[in-house]
This record gives sequence, C-alpha cells and structure tokens, in this order.
Amino acid sequence: MSHETIETLLDEDRRFPPSEAFAAAANVNDPAIYEAGEDIEAFWESHAKTFTWFEPWTKVLEWDLPFAKWFVGAKTNITVNCLDRHVEGGKADKTAFIWEGEPGDERIFTYAELLKEVCRFANALRALGVQKGDRVTLYLGMVPELAIAVLACARIGAPHSVVFGGFSPDSLRERIKDSDSKVLITGDGAWRRGGVVPLKANADIALEETPGVEHVVVVQRIGAEKAPVPMQAGRDHWWHELVADAADTCEPEVMDAEDLLFILYTSGTTGHPKGIAHTTGGYMVGTAMTHRWVFDIKDDDVYWCTADIGWVTGHSYIVYGPLANGCTSVMYEGGPDHPGKDRFWDIVERRGVTIFYTAPTAIRAFMGWGDEHPKSHDLSSLRLLGSVGEPINPEAWMWYHDTIGGGRCPIVDTWWQTETGGIMISPLPGLTTNKPGSAARALPGIHVDVVDEEGNHVDAPGGGLLVIRKPWPSMLRGIYGNPERYKDVYWSKFDGLYFAGDGAKLDEDGYYWLLGRVDDIMLVSGHNISTMEVESALVDHPAVAESAVVGRTHAVKGQAIAAFVTLMGGAEPSEEARAEIRQHVAAKIGPIGRPDDVYFAPALPKTRSGKIMRRLLRDIAEGREVGDTTTLADPGVVDTLRAQYEKHRS
Ligand code: ATP
Ligand code: MG
Repeated sequence: MSHETIETLLDEDRRFPPSEAFAAAANVNDPAIYEAGEDIEAFWESHAKTFTWFEPWTKVLEWDLPFAKWFVGAKTNITVNCLDRHVEGGKADKTAFIWEGEPGDERIFTYAELLKEVCRFANALRALGVQKGDRVTLYLGMVPELAIAVLACARIGAPHSVVFGGFSPDSLRERIKDSDSKVLITGDGAWRRGGVVPLKANADIALEETPGVEHVVVVQRIGAEKAPVPMQAGRDHWWHELVADAADTCEPEVMDAEDLLFILYTSGTTGHPKGIAHTTGGYMVGTAMTHRWVFDIKDDDVYWCTADIGWVTGHSYIVYGPLANGCTSVMYEGGPDHPGKDRFWDIVERRGVTIFYTAPTAIRAFMGWGDEHPKSHDLSSLRLLGSVGEPINPEAWMWYHDTIGGGRCPIVDTWWQTETGGIMISPLPGLTTNKPGSAARALPGIHVDVVDEEGNHVDAPGGGLLVIRKPWPSMLRGIYGNPERYKDVYWSKFDGLYFAGDGAKLDEDGYYWLLGRVDDIMLVSGHNISTMEVESALVDHPAVAESAVVGRTHAVKGQAIAAFVTLMGGAEPSEEARAEIRQHVAAKIGPIGRPDDVYFAPALPKTRSGKIMRRLLRDIAEGREVGDTTTLADPGVVDTLRAQYEKHRS
C-alpha cells in the first residue's frame, strides 16, 4: 500500500455537519472529550465510575502486551447494570424491548418484566446444574428468549456462546465442541421469510457428536403442528416447563471484571472462525459508553439495531449496550422483505423508531428494491442513522441520508470488529461533520493509526494498514483456548500494535476511510487498488445495485480486476451494459481501475452476516476449485457464478 493510484475517495467534497439543533441537544458536543481520551486510564476510569460495582478496582489497567486486564480486582455483574439498577432507579415500567415476530405478533417487555424473565431462566439453568464458568451454547432465531438466555447466562456467570440460527449442523457442532459447552439452548424452529428453519432438527444432528452437552433447552416458537420435535428424555427440556415454577428473583453471581462473559465466533469472511473471548467489566463500560455517545441515546428514543444477536453487533448494541443505558429497543424476528419489501419501513413508522442501525449490504439491497418501499411510509420519526459491517460506498451513504434520513439525520458509519467488542471509529453525531464514505475519527479514548508494511505511521493524506496503538476496555482478551493463535493473528505483524487486518486511508482532517480487508487488496501493474474504491465506482453507475471486485492472475499486469455486478431491479445484462459499466469505472476513478472482466451476478456470495466473501469470488475468477463455503448464506450462488465464468471463458 505504498503508492496510491486512486484518490477519488479523498476527493469526496460533500460535507454534512450536524444541524445546530442536533448539536445543541447531543450527549456529546464538546470536542474536549477527545483530549480527555488521551489519558486512557483516567478517561475510562471516570466513565467506569458511573456503573454499579460490588467492589472497586485496585488498578485501572494492567497491560502485559498483548494481554490486558481492565479494572483489576473489581467485582460486578453486568445484568445488575443492565436491569436491576434501572428497575431500582425508577425505570421499572419503562419498555426495554418491543419485539415483533415475523408473522406480525408482538411481545413487549418492561425493564421489570425483563429482569423477572432473566431471573426465572437463570434459576432454571442453575437447577440444571449450570455453574459459574460452564459454557452454554445458544442456537436460536431472533426471539426474546435469545436475549433473555444471554442475560440469564451472564446472571449466573456461565459464559455464553451464541451461534447464529442460520448456521448448519456442522458449524454448530464445531462451535459447541470448540467452546466445550455443557448446555445447548435452541428452539423448535425459527421463522424466516414465511418458512421454518428447523433449529432442533439441526441441533440433533450436531449433538450426535458432542458428548459434552448434558442438557438441551428448547424454546417453543413455532408449535407442534408445523415444527414437531422429538425430545430425548433426560437430555431435552422445554423452556416453558423449566421456567414454570422457577422463582422470580435470582442472586447475581459475583463476577470479577476479568471473568469470561462470552465467546463469539467471527463471521468467517477470511477463513476459519475464531472464538473471540470477552470479559465482564471492560466490555460493559466500553459497549455502554460507545452506545451512549455514538447513538446519542436519550430517554425517549426508540432505538432499532437490525443485526442478529448471533453477531457481535447484536451482543453489544442490541443486548448489553442499550440495556446498560436503559434504552427502549425494537427487536425484529424476520426477514426485511417479508411479507413485503417495505417491512423495515413499516416497522419504523408503526413503532416510531428514532435511531436506526443497519448494514451496508441491507442498504444496497433496499436501493436495488426501489424507492417506492421507503417512500410509502412516514419515516419522520427517525433522527439518527447508523451503518456497520462493511465499508459504506458514498453512493449508498447518500441514498441512506436522503431517502431514509430525509436529508436531516446524521449518519454514524461505525468501524469495529468482533475482536474490538465495541465501536472504535465513528462520527460523534453532535460534533462530526460527515464525509460520505468515511467513518471519521477514532472515538475518545481509542487510539488507532494507519501504518505502512514496516509499521511506520503514514502521513496524511496516505493509505496503509489499520492498527490500534493502545489497549481499550472492550478489547478481546484472546481466542478461546488458543493464546498462540491470538498472538499470531493480531500481535505478530507489528511490534506492540494490534493489527486489524483492514486497509485504510487517512486524510488531512484526520478522518479514516476504510478500504476493506488487506487480503482483498489488488495489485494491478504495480499499483495497490482497494476493492472499496472500484466497487464504489461500480455502484455509482445507475444500473448497478451491488458489486464485488477481486484481483485475478494476469500475465502482464500481475493482476487484473474481475468485477461481479448485480443489476438494479429492471436492468438487463447485455454486452452494451458491460462496456458501459467498464467505461463508467474508468471515467470515475481512472483507467487503472477499469475491470477486465464484468460478470453479471444475480446474487453475490455472502456470509450469513451479509458480508461479501471475496475469497470465493477469487476462486471463481481464477477458474479454480472453490474453497470452504460453510459460512456462506446461500452456497447455490457459487454454482450460478461458476456457470457465468464458464460461459464467459468459452
Ligand atoms: P472473520 O474475522 O472471521 O473473517 P469478519 O471479520 O467478517 O470475520 P466481524 O468481526 O463481524 O467478522 O467483522 C469485522 C470486519 O468488518 C472489520 O474488520 C471490517 O473489515 C468490517 N467492517 C465492520 N464495520 C465496518 C465499517 N464501518 N467500515 C468498513 N469496514 C467495516
Ligand atoms: Mg475479522
């Protein structure tokens, strides 16, 4: 990444400052907070003091690189901070979750009701013999019981490992074994686009080879008619039967700040998933504060994060962060296009959502579906929008801003990872002047940088590898059961720096422009070209809804750019369209970025969290065997693309 050849991102000159009214009312509107964050220990300690601890810390940070301990010696329970302190502090009747099922049913939980449900299930788990330190795997759809079970595990100090409900039996088995879980919590099924995902049937396949699992708890979501499930006597228990006479209160386990809170496997975009370990105290402080600052949470907000609790976004910004802030959240069970492509906007209107947080993959899908869907709803309750998961192309940013945000809502483009636990780079909506496509600056108390291959700081404007210079409270404490891999993956590339694996540019205002994964960067005729830049130029073409580019071997140039393009609803693939799209990219970012190949792809291969898996596209573009597809949402996509490739080559 030494010399950049495409600078269009940094040429972006549209500017969106917050309105005066937004800034005046914002939780954070004094830039002095960034200076305060220079002294990480004093800064994070001052915020940690606002939480409930059973015992205080003796030391803020112990940094034995790469192993950090935050709030050393302190004791707490995160559920006391998420539930009890609100119930006792006057918010007992405030709504915690407005849950909406895919078929249209709803369940609403106040803080008092949520605490009660958490305690009942925590007692049920204790009755099954689950003790502090025992791992519990959760494999459910987006039902309230998933949030309740997560919190119940935390209540009794049993680290949870949530496995996304769309994963296959193989993926589930691998994660149960890796975490060595004693209990599995699943459901009879999950609603997805009108169909039933057979969770228990999948789980039973996985359980054939997981002798460590002693008990299976089954949530009845679908019912015996549509989802009959065999129950193995002694091992399998219905959730509703277990909690039927469980007590309403449950003494919280006293947790050390550094006790394991959960394990979560990364989404598997780059390879074999890693079991990321997070502990209690630092994670609590980090997620709650970042949620409060970035989403500007106010008492009357209705906040909706559309992620699944199976991903870190759901852990930090559906469960722990929002509840620690006493916030009212919407939780939705199903697909965005069921029963119609306006389902999300219908929910925003009916529930009066004020803050909406989603992923670029969803935003690009909405763009492709057409403006009539959001336009048919009143979205005027919205005041702030967020994005996470991938770089958001300026084109998608503008659409989100204008069509969803009505031109009035700040956008927070939040960069972070399963490993970071919480948001690291993001605008602060009351302070930051936004630039479409940039995640702006590192948050207060967070110290990131862009370095070259040797680890030297790159002067702005410039590009290189994203690193983190100082420890932060919600940082991963390791890869579960594998300290060597932890050191190797994150801490071996540069001395003393956390290597995030992403490329980034830094501009003269200190804004970061995320470029995607370092492994995906292309080398064309000696020039490093990021996927983000070419893809942004592609989606800038009016007929292109979504795109992914990869480098393939080229005899002369080293690598040539292969583009996979999904057209907007209504647009037809043709030779003219192909030529026009290639020309559009060349005109937009220069001839070096012009794709050699353009494949029309009805859909792109994505992980189950919606991220494009470029490594599989590389296999296709090179005409070789396609690698591991187990974390792919729809493996059929690969065959379709392979057929395109064969046709193109013949
Ligand atoms: P794996 O590590 O198994 O390959 P993953 O990295 O996709 O999976 P996550 O931890 O969910 O798993 O994703 C973090 C990554 O997502 C980041 O490293 C970055 O590449 C990308 N990302 C997240 N948010 C943003 C953002 N706002 N802008 C750009 N990229 C982002
Ligand atoms: Mg990753």
